[in-house]
Amino acid sequence: ASPSRPPRVAIVGGGPSGFYVAHFLLKAHPEARVDIFEKYPVPYGLVRYGVAPDHPEVKNCINQFEATAALPNVRLFGNVHVGNDLSLADVRARYDAVVLSYGAAGDRPLNIPGEDLQGVMSAREFVAWYNGDPAAAATDIDLRGPQAVVFGMGNVALDVARILLYNPAELASTDISTRALSKLADQNGIQAVRIVGRRGPLEVTCTVKELRELKKLVPTDMDFFDYTTAWIDANRPRRRTLMLLQELAGKAEHTDAAAAATPRAWGFDFNLAPEEFLPDPDDPVRILNANNSSLPLPSMSSEAIIFTKMVRAHVKLADDRHTSLPFHHSIGSGLSGRIKDQPHLYCSGWIKNGPIGTIAITMADAQDTAQSIAQDLELQLTNLDPSDDCADVAELLRRRKKTVVDYAGWQRIRDTELSTVRSMPAHSRRV
Ligand code: FAD
Repeated sequence: ASPSRPPRVAIVGGGPSGFYVAHFLLKAHPEARVDIFEKYPVPYGLVRYGVAPDHPEVKNCINQFEATAALPNVRLFGNVHVGNDLSLADVRARYDAVVLSYGAAGDRPLNIPGEDLQGVMSAREFVAWYNGDPAAAATDIDLRGPQAVVFGMGNVALDVARILLYNPAELASTDISTRALSKLADQNGIQAVRIVGRRGPLEVTCTVKELRELKKLVPTDMDFFDYTTAWIDANRPRRRTLMLLQELAGKAEHTDAAAAATPRAWGFDFNLAPEEFLPDPDDPVRILNANNSSLPLPSMSSEAIIFTKMVRAHVKLADDRHTSLPFHHSIGSGLSGRIKDQPHLYCSGWIKNGPIGTIAITMADAQDTAQSIAQDLELQLTNLDPSDDCADVAELLRRRKKTVVDYAGWQRIRDTELSTVRSMPAHSRRV
């Protein structure tokens, strides 16, 4: 029998994976009704609270999300935290299919002593702070410097390094949080950022584009290494990264007049792992080298830089324990977004695969999940009887006196934000 009503699909999490699932699903089933639940009053997840403010082009995917959100059969339920405001059972009882796309929040601890000391923070916290994530509203960061150490060799480590080393005037036209911008402009004493990796140059995961950006921003100071023979087996993008790294290594560019005026620098330190953080400002971190011998943090060759204190930031990536919902990341691998033993429940994005992958990868993954849902809808493998009239979740939220930020509400927030940015005073240059 053909269904007497269009299929109803709930999406839990208004980040890229949620919006891309909606987009692809509606291509296959334009008649479907899609409701997107987002715990924050504003949508778009890590596009808003993760992607670095100096990468506005990455955020262009928002145009696609806006087009989806504006469709008459899509509703945005912002400020609705599934697990708190609505139980998953509340949602499942009202939809033919439910997609979990709530990302992977939380930190993966390093499990070394001193991790909780002031000044040691995860990259997640630091990124949340400069992007104005409400979760970081109380975060205060000691930027007195002169050195910051970032553990990890991926693009997020480079994002953190860039934000610390930028001349804040150059960030003023971005969507960086005003609170972070003021702090960076007025109180940033960081002169050097060391990016410390457990493994060697062959294992760096950052991309050439991000390395070039940092190279352009401030001079490099890192030890020379020669891995030329190992490059033979490396694929082309990896070879390009290695060549650039080698070009940078051993080249302290402090002769440059501009660099002399602003003695900021950055560099990689390879094959070192943090062993312990100490409350001693002169010796704040002990590092283990590849032979497992303990040593203090390597200092940089430039005499212009004196290390007394430093801010430390380690790059997390998220773990799976910080959610009020019973499903944790990597739930869906290999099942094309269907969750094992949970009919009509699907997953997409970082909650599905763990906290890895760019927006483009997240998009391709969402297409995989959307395809599974579309196939199941066609076979009428749905949670509710297709002829049932289902109760509207909006009514339940009204009864619970929940303030929902819908698409129109989000538009008003966005317009206010845009007008605030335009009227923001220019910040003084940092020297
Ligand atoms: P998320 O983006 O985390 O979205 C999940 C959404 O679910 C969030 O909006 C969250 O608020 C919401 N949510 C969580 N719990 C609930 C709940 N219980 N109820 C309702 N809603 C909930 N990729 C690039 O391509 N380029 C970059 O430059 C780039 N930079 C990055 C920088 C950082 C620091 C990080 C961490 C990632 C970056 N990425 C970048 C990767 C990109 O952000 C991810 O691929 C993408 O955001 C994953 O999408 P997602 O929807 O799975 O998760």
